[in-house]
Amino acid sequence: MSAVIERLAELAQLGRHDAGIDRALATPQERRARERFATWARARGYALTQDDVGNLFARRNGVRDGARSILVGSHLDTVPTGGAYDGAYGVVAALCALEALDERNAATEHPVEAVAWAGEEGSRFPLGCLGSSVFTGAYDGASALALSDALGTTLGQALAASDGGLLDGVSKRDETRVAAYLELHVEQGPILEREGVSLGIVTAIAGQRRYRVAVEGTSGHAGTVPMARRGDALCAAAEMILAAERAALVAGESVATVGSLTVEPNATNVIPRRVTFSVDIRSPDDARIDAVETALRESAGDANARRRVTVAIERLEARAPTPMDPKLRAALGRAVAAIGERAIDVPSGAGHDAICLARIAPTAMLFVPSIGGRSHVAEEETSPHDLEIGVTALAASIVEVDKFVI
Ligand SMILES: [Zn+2]
Repeated sequence: MSAVIERLAELAQLGRHDAGIDRALATPQERRARERFATWARARGYALTQDDVGNLFARRNGVRDGARSILVGSHLDTVPTGGAYDGAYGVVAALCALEALDERNAATEHPVEAVAWAGEEGSRFPLGCLGSSVFTGAYDGASALALSDALGTTLGQALAASDGGLLDGVSKRDETRVAAYLELHVEQGPILEREGVSLGIVTAIAGQRRYRVAVEGTSGHAGTVPMARRGDALCAAAEMILAAERAALVAGESVATVGSLTVEPNATNVIPRRVTFSVDIRSPDDARIDAVETALRESAGDANARRRVTVAIERLEARAPTPMDPKLRAALGRAVAAIGERAIDVPSGAGHDAICLARIAPTAMLFVPSIGGRSHVAEEETSPHDLEIGVTALAASIVEVDKFVI
């Protein structure tokens, strides 16, 4: 068995339970995963450092004095019922790619660092991409350490504890050393499998907007109020939900989801008085998100005018799409060709640490297929064949990127 498959199997034992893998940041099982990373890195003589929020770096030296680092990595934490590949694959593959360079005696101009970002999933402390946000300065380190989990334990306390905390020795964060960032990840969607290719080069990470919609109508007796006189909040909400679905289909390359809905008073014989629901719209193209939002708002206006209800739409969050660096994408394309493989361009619907890194350095991502497009579940899987190709492509990408980044 190759190292990437063996190591993924080893990590998959850490935090395993009936419904999946639970490896939240700064828990004993997540610390054990960081320990494994440290052991593998030290065995190859890579210099290991960690910062105060738990980001871990294993550095393979370059030959040019003063050159900044090419960072390559992903995350070791999981959602509460996660699988064996989301995040862990990118971290293990980064180490394996460094080892592949060793085995070929391939010197690089730049140092190359395999990195395990802390807490990407946000499944214990309420901040996604925690480690990469702090590292890149998008989120303040002291504020991150003060974040509490559901039991009131702060990240600072959790990282100071012996059973889930930091490994020995903390280095100062230095984001200025990053020349470029590469991340290899499982696709978590169905496109690569459908297209029959082993590799995808990410065009952009989707932007995302979240809304809370409140529809106020009028309650009444389900048997006595004539249909024409009703202000049924749920019927109005249903029209808006279908309008969002239709708009995302028409706009293309976009998705709209209503995943949460509350009906009041929620009784079989009472006309719904009030409905609140969430809307989540994502696309790699902001204009398409605009189009879906516009359709949602037009539908709300229509309900206001026709249905004896009032609709309020509150935008809770708006994150712009993150395009990947064109030069790095081209380098990845050359690397894939050099190893005799084929790749297609794909957008990323899910968020990744690469969003944060793209703010400070040229950034690109490679995807390998997810069987059945499934992820964030115990059944998440990628074929051993594709896992191996991903590592080979990543090592070749490092070599290509090393030729031109400064
Ligand atoms: Zn991930």
